[in-house]
Amino acid sequence: MKLIKAVVTLIRWTLKLILTGILLMLVAYFLASSNWLKADNKLALALNQGLVQVEAWLSKAGVLPKLAMTERKASQADTDDNQAQGARWPQNQARVYLELTDPKLKRACLVAMSAWNDTGAFKFVQTTDKDKAQIICRAISDSTNGAAGETETDLALPQKQLTHATVYLNKYYLFNPSYSYSWQRIINTAEHELGHAIGLRHTNEISVMQPTGSNYSIQPADVTKVRELYSR
Ligand SMILES: [Zn+2]
Repeated sequence: MKLIKAVVTLIRWTLKLILTGILLMLVAYFLASSNWLKADNKLALALNQGLVQVEAWLSKAGVLPKLAMTERKASQADTDDNQAQGARWPQNQARVYLELTDPKLKRACLVAMSAWNDTGAFKFVQTTDKDKAQIICRAISDSTNGAAGETETDLALPQKQLTHATVYLNKYYLFNPSYSYSWQRIINTAEHELGHAIGLRHTNEISVMQPTGSNYSIQPADVTKVRELYSR
């Protein structure tokens, strides 16, 4: 009887712990999503980073749903083919300002930055000072340009040194039910555009830099390319 009692107590406490955990995560999620915590609030930043890490783990572990790929690929290409070969930042590090009010897009960018950082090949550092930012991530809603994401880069010649980049994430496609972008593909799009922002060009290999589909996250080939680019 004593054993049964002990087991029941153990189960009770386990359930309580799990429920408390879920409750805490919900509160954290609410705080991070709500507008009254702005990005320049240190607590919100830390909270968001924490959530992003959890989301990255869940996504990796396959817990977050990976929705079916859509066949409507025509509108997911972007128009960065004119990017100069060999363009890069002075170091494999850049400060990013997220000019994004939409919590979902903001988290997608943070997850993408975190994914690049995890490769060790490049380091994105979030800044709350727009004037000091080297890369700015911005949302647009444009049905005419046919791209879910776009990146503009400024170069200093002749070394082809990147001096500024703006990443545009197009809500018109990313949040449009008829294009059925899964959370993972939104992240892939952000990883792709950040890839351009650090000097990567399109490729048809298995790569996050495939021009259409946003079917791949960062691949080993991408990490190799970034390492090559920044080892010179
Ligand atoms: Zn592209």
